[in-house]
Formats: sequence, structure tokens, C-alpha cells
Amino acid sequence: MANPDIIVIGAGHNGLVAATYLARAGRKVLVLERREVPGGQLAGDARIGAFATRPIHAGGQLRADIVRDLGLANHGLASEASADAGAYLAPLPDGRMLRLAASTDAATLDSIRALSPRDAERWPEFVRFMNSAAAYLEAGQATPMPRLANADLLEQGRPLAALAWKLRRLGRTDMFRFMRVLTMSAVEFAEEWFESEPLRAAIGAVAIHGVSIGSMSAGGGYVLIHNWLNRGGLAHRGTRGGAQDMVNALVAALRARGGELRTSAPVAQVLVERQVVRGVRLESGEEILAGTVLSDADPRRTLLGLVGAPELPPEFVWQAQSIKMRGSVAKVHVLTDGQHGIPGGTVVIAPTTKYLERAYDAAKYGQVSEHPYLELTHSGDVVSIHYQFAPYSLRGGDWQAMRATLERRAIATVSERFAGFRDSIREVRSITPFDLEQTWALTEGDLNHGQLILDQLLFMRPIPGWSDHRTPVDGLYLCGSGVHGGGGVSGVSGRNAARRVLRVSARG
Ligand SMILES: Cc1cc2nc3c(=O)[nH]c(=O)nc-3n(C[C@H](O)[C@H](O)[C@H](O)COP(=O)(O)OP(=O)(O)OC[C@H]3O[C@@H](n4cnc5c(N)ncnc54)[C@H](O)[C@@H]3O)c2cc1C
Repeated sequence: MANPDIIVIGAGHNGLVAATYLARAGRKVLVLERREVPGGQLAGDARIGAFATRPIHAGGQLRADIVRDLGLANHGLASEASADAGAYLAPLPDGRMLRLAASTDAATLDSIRALSPRDAERWPEFVRFMNSAAAYLEAGQATPMPRLANADLLEQGRPLAALAWKLRRLGRTDMFRFMRVLTMSAVEFAEEWFESEPLRAAIGAVAIHGVSIGSMSAGGGYVLIHNWLNRGGLAHRGTRGGAQDMVNALVAALRARGGELRTSAPVAQVLVERQVVRGVRLESGEEILAGTVLSDADPRRTLLGLVGAPELPPEFVWQAQSIKMRGSVAKVHVLTDGQHGIPGGTVVIAPTTKYLERAYDAAKYGQVSEHPYLELTHSGDVVSIHYQFAPYSLRGGDWQAMRATLERRAIATVSERFAGFRDSIREVRSITPFDLEQTWALTEGDLNHGQLILDQLLFMRPIPGWSDHRTPVDGLYLCGSGVHGGGGVSGVSGRNAARRVLRVSARG
């Protein structure tokens, strides 16, 4: 494409969502992706052999309004949840299974009642509150956050007032509950609702999923609501065709509106002149000029790597350096002969809330958890194991040496609960935080492009005062998971960033 109006760096799902909204508004959009394939973390990798076509994590759905706005159903995206969107299951010490659905179905209530009749009574109210809190968070993610010191009261005050009004309309009880929950730890929150330890731990696991915090760390309540919103409850769910369908539909929708995608086109530099963006230079040396550039790469990589400190105000550089990345998730894919004995749905290995905290303790000291918190999903013969905690920065070792230990511990932990698993194994491939950085360009292996912790959320994401997708470089915007609305699969940060670009250009 000659002379694009807008360049988007990165074809992760947020980059593609932003690009498609902008193309829909009539802009000439060029997306540049460093890998050979689009999709970012939704795309696998040839180096994981038999698992290459698998996404690196289970589930994930775009928000319904994004699917509608971009007409993704016309490009092959199934709207129904996938058939394997089953229950959330936690093996119990006596061999039974705690079965939880985000509803009040009889199987869930019976399963909880077997542990505690009181907890079964509280479950419907818990599900109601979580659904209402998640709906409110969704509204918050769609609301542009003010830049505080530079807030434009008319433009930014109105949506915020509408959000405050929605909070009030949750009713007195839920409003206070919601505000309290955000800062609570997983343990505090679960203890307030339930008395049975396996139930507390199963919920507590979702409150630390994907983030480097323990079950006793502040902010678990926020993460629980965030993950509940993205999953639609506790178990993973995806669309029928899986992550690849989502990527294919986004690419087709972009092209249908005249947008272009170039893969194997790594950007080496964002070109800046007097704090105004001019375009990009690829690693090949080719320069492409455009007056607007969006980046789906993580904020640290974009600002300090692609723009560079000399082009940014010193205080901003310091703040960008301080964004906490701290990835500590690994994935172990296991090809089996099909006789693994693991039920469908999302199986969590987190027997107690103290177990979760101890698993996290290891990460604090740069070690891989010996007794990890695991989440298992399987599709056909492949079992995928989400492993926490596996810190990016290892104390006294590197990931090449540690990979075998990680795989051994994952297999041992699963085998303790599922006797047939070990003998069913045919091939094992793991993705470490180091791989996430090397292959998927995630700084420090952080899958959320910045930790989902209290001082990095809402108007502080990615940097306090810069939560509206803009940067100190005029015309350069951030659209990936590291900015407001982001973290996980939803498309929200991409959509929000595109709206910001269109608002700024409408003002001229
Ligand atoms: C193991 C694991 C488990 C997860 N579990 C969940 C979960 O349970 N639920 C959930 O919702 N989410 C989960 N996630 C996170 C989710 O996948 C991500 O948050 C989401 O996919 C990020 O999308 P994105 O578009 O913001 O960024 P990315 O998918 O990271 O895309 C960024 C893109 O930018 C490209 N790029 C970077 N630098 C350049 C450059 N210089 N030039 C050109 N292109 C560049 C990258 O190659 C990449 O394609 C998980 C992720 C992992 C790895």
C-alpha cells in the first residue's frame, strides 16, 4: 500500500481490531507484523512441533459489540460458544471432582452441597454478584479514562459521570461490594463468601490467573472480576472455531474494507521528528511514512525500544521503565494417546488457598513452583497445561536449563490426580516466559503487556496520566493489552484506541 494514512504495528487481535475499525471509518490502514503469521498470542509457533497450530492458551472471545461492529460473522466467525466450554472442575482429595458452572444448575449446587450446604445456599447470590460486577467492569473498560492533570472536563467528564451513575445503579449493596472487592486478596474475598476450602481455592485460582500475585496479595479481587468477564464465568470458553477463526475473521474483515496486512515485516524504529510521528522504518531498512501510527506491541517495547528514550520527556522515560512486566506463566502441551483420563472443561489444580500462595512464594525468589497451580484443558489427544509460577527472571539459572524441570513438575502434578496420564504421554513441548519474549515479543514474558495490578489499571494503565492511548509523540497511539481495557482476549483496547484516533482526527 502506497501512502497509508495509518500504520498499525503488530497483528495481535487488538492491532487487527483497531485497524479494522479505522479501515471501516474510511482510513487507508497498513498493518505490519513481525512474525510470519498474524494473531499475536492467538497464533501458535512452528517450533512447538505437533502443537504448532494450537493457540498458546485456551478460550478467548471478542466482545459481542466488536463482533457486530466489524461484521465478523460475515467473515466466518461463529457466534456460539465452543462445545468444550464445559464446567470448571477441581479434583478433591478423595478422588471426587468439585464441579462449578457460573449458574445455578443442579449439578453445581449438588457438588457444592457435598462440601458445605451453607456454601451451596450462597452460590446463587455469588454468581449474581459476579455477573453484575463483570458487567460493570465491561462498562468501565469501554469508558475512556481521563488524563487527570490534563483532563478535558467536558470531553472526559461526561462519560465518567455516566459510569459513576451506572455504579450507583448497581444498588447500595453491590456498589460497596464492588469497590471493596477490587483491592481484596483472593483469600479475603473467598473467605467472605464461602467456608469450604476447596471451593475457596478453586475461585482463588482464577483471581491470580495470568498475573504474578499470590492468593494473599492485594488486587486478587480485581483479577477475579476481570477473568470472570473475559471467560464468562470460571471455565474457559471460546468460539466454536477457536482462536484461529477469530484471527481469520479479523484479517478478512480488514481486507474487505481495503486495509492491508504485511507479515514478516518487523518494525525496527518509529520515526519521530520534533515529537511528531512520521512513520516507521522496518528492519529491512524500508521506510513507510504515515501521520498516525498505532502500536499493538507492549508499551515498554514500543516506547523504549521502537521510539527510544531520546525522543521522550525524561520523566516519561522513567515511568515507562517502571512499568511492571514480570511474566511468570508457562505452558506445557502434551500429546497423548487419548487415554489421559482428564475430563473436558477447565480442570484446576489448586487444592487450598495456602497451596496457591506457596506456589507464588517460589516466584518471589526467582524459582519455578515445585507444587504449581495448574489449569488443564484438552482438545482431542492434546492436553494443555497452564503453569504458575514460572518466573521470567530465574535466580541462578536460565530457561534452557530449567525447561526439563518445568515439564517434569507439570507432569508429576497432573499424574498425582490422574493416574493414567503419565502412561498416555507421547510428546511434550513447553513454552517458557523466555519463549514468550523471543517468539511472541512479550517483554519479560508478560502475557498482559504489563501486570494487571492495582497501580497499573484504569487511568494508570499503562502510565498515570497517559491512559487515553496517546503518548508524548503526537500521532503515536498504543492499542494493545498494556493499555486501558486490555489484558486478555476481548479486543477492547484495540477498539478504544481506534475510537481515540478517530475522535482526535475529527477535531482536526
Ligand atoms: C500462556 C498464556 C495464557 C493466557 N491465558 C489467557 C486467558 O486465560 N484468558 C485471556 O483472555 N487471555 C489469556 N492470555 C493472554 C492473551 O492471549 C493476550 O492478552 C492477548 O492475546 C493479547 O493480544 P494483543 O493483540 O494485545 O497482543 P499480542 O497478541 O501480544 O500481539 C502483539 C503483536 O505485535 C507484534 N509485534 C511486536 N513487536 C513488533 C514489531 N517491532 N514489529 C511488528 N510487529 C510487532 C507481535 O509479534 C504480536 O503479533 C494468555 C496468554 C498466554 C501466553
